[in-house]
Amino acid sequence: MSETPYPYDAPASQALFDRASVVTPGGVNSPVRAFRAVGGTPRFMVSGKGAWLTDADGREYVDLVCSWGPMILGHSHPEVIAAVQDAVARGTSFGTPGEGEVALAEEIVARVAPVEQVRLVSSGTEATMSAIRLARGFTRRTKVIKFAGCYHGHVDSLLAAAGSGVATFALPDTPGVTGAQAGDTIVLPYNDLEAVQEAFHRHPGEIACVITEASPGNMGVVPPEPGFNQGLRDACHKNGALYISDEVMTGFRTSRSGWYGVDGVAADLMTFGKVMGGGFPAAAFGGRADVMAHLAPAGPVYQAGTLSGNPVATAAGLAQLRLLDDAAYEKVNVVSAQIQSLVTEALSKEGVAHRLQTASNMFSVFFTDRQVRDYEDAKRQESFRFTAFFHSLLSNGVYLPPSSFESWFVSTAHDERAIQTIADALPAAARAAAEATA
Ligand code: PLP
Repeated sequence: MSETPYPYDAPASQALFDRASVVTPGGVNSPVRAFRAVGGTPRFMVSGKGAWLTDADGREYVDLVCSWGPMILGHSHPEVIAAVQDAVARGTSFGTPGEGEVALAEEIVARVAPVEQVRLVSSGTEATMSAIRLARGFTRRTKVIKFAGCYHGHVDSLLAAAGSGVATFALPDTPGVTGAQAGDTIVLPYNDLEAVQEAFHRHPGEIACVITEASPGNMGVVPPEPGFNQGLRDACHKNGALYISDEVMTGFRTSRSGWYGVDGVAADLMTFGKVMGGGFPAAAFGGRADVMAHLAPAGPVYQAGTLSGNPVATAAGLAQLRLLDDAAYEKVNVVSAQIQSLVTEALSKEGVAHRLQTASNMFSVFFTDRQVRDYEDAKRQESFRFTAFFHSLLSNGVYLPPSSFESWFVSTAHDERAIQTIADALPAAARAAAEATA
C-alpha cells in the first residue's frame, strides 16, 4: 500500500490502485493520473454527470480537469450520449469509409478556415506524429523546431524538453528515444523569436517545420506574446518551412475555431484532438490542400489507422461540436472568469504570491510573483504550495489537475452549485498554500 500524508481516506480508490499497480506500471495508463507530483491516492472515478465526478468511495467532486479538455459540455451530455447510443446500435467499427467521418471532417473544415482538408486519427499523438512526417515528406527536409515546455504527445522526436507529464516528472528526456530520433529536433525557448531566426540561420535549407502549441497549456498556461505566432509563420515561410499549429488542446475549446479564432494566424498544418472527439478517441490533422495532397493514398507519404474515423467516436465528436455554438463558448468563458476571480481573491487574501495566466477560457495558477513566459519561468514556481492547495481542494470536493504544470478546464455544465462548492473550498486551500513549506 502506498503511503499518503493526507488525512482523509479513499479506501476503495486505494484498493483499486493497489490492484492496478500489480498489473499496470505505476497503476495507471497515463503517468500524471498517478498523483506522483502531489502524493496521495489517485481517485478512481466511476461516473460523471455535468460538472461532477463520483469516485469509487462515492465522493463527489467538481471536475476542473474535464478529462484534460475534451468534456467541454460536461459529462454525459444527453445529446452526445444519444448520438453515441444511436451509433453503437448500428455497429462499432467497419474498417470502411462512413458518412460520419465525412460530416466530422466537413465540420472541422467549416470551422477552421486554414484547414482545407483533414485526416482523422485516434489520438493527438498520432496527429502530431503524422503532421511532422507529412511536413518532412513535403519539404524533403529533416529538422524540426519545437519549444521547451510544449507537449505534442509522446512522439519520439518531440519528447525533448516536453511539458505535461514530462514536466511533472522533471525528466530532461526519456530513455528509449534514440539520439537519431531526437537529433533532428531543435528545442528553443518559448516566446523567443530571435532564437527561431537564429536557428533558421544556423541550419539553412534543413528545417522542415516549426511545431508549437497554438497557445501552450502543458507547462501551465503560457500564452504566446503578441506577434509570436505570426513571427513563427513569417520565419517559416521566409525559409521554406511549414508552420504547424498544435491545437489538440486549444482546438474547439478556446473559441469555435480554436486558437486560430483568437489570433487569426493561419498555419500550414494544424492538429486537433480532445474536444473534437466528444470524450472518445478521435483526433485529426489538416491544413493546406496542396500539402495534404502528399498524404497516401493521394500522395506518397504513408499514414493509416485501423480505427481512424471510428463511427462511434465520430458520432460523439460531431454531436459535441454541433452543440458548441457561440452561446456555449460564452457560457464557458463566463464560468472560467468566475472561477479565476474566486481563486485570485482567495490567494490574495492569504498573501500567497501567485500568477493566474489565461488563454481564453483555459487558465492555470503559478505560485510565483513573476510573469511566466516560458518553461524556465514555469519551473521557478513554488510547486510545494500547489501540492497543499491541491489536497485541500480535493478533500473539499474540488478536483484539480494533479500537477502545477497543467491547464485547468471548465465546461458549460459548471453551474451555481459547482461554483459555490469551489468558492466554499478555496479559503482553506489558500490558507494551506500560504502555510506550506518546501
Ligand atoms: N498536443 C497537445 C497540445 C496536447 O495537449 C496533447 C495531450 O495532452 C497531445 C498533443 C497528445 O494528445 P493525446 O494525449 O491524445 O495523444
